[in-house]
Amino acid sequence: MKPLICQSCGFPFSEEFRGTNRDHTKSMDFCISCFKNGEYTDHHLTMHELERRLLEMAHEHNEISLEEAQQIIKRLPNLKRWKMTNIL
Ligand SMILES: [Zn+2]
Repeated sequence: MKPLICQSCGFPFSEEFRGTNRDHTKSMDFCISCFKNGEYTDHHLTMHELERRLLEMAHEHNEISLEEAQQIIKRLPNLKRWKMTNIL
């Protein structure tokens, strides 16, 4: 099975970290840290803010490499959550 990519934060996630829909089924699109009970956990999150966080994770916390961060940032505009917001 190919890894799932969260359609909000762009991170790959495994089966057990799937978010939950309102009817308590598991989401195929979002990870548990982005999506719970059919709602985004952070309604105010923007793509720009996500980019900032990713770079911070890479630069300050070394949680991911800069390459990983940039890879995810490139992916963001194509994710379901952000697609619409590009048309401004
Ligand atoms: Zn996510």
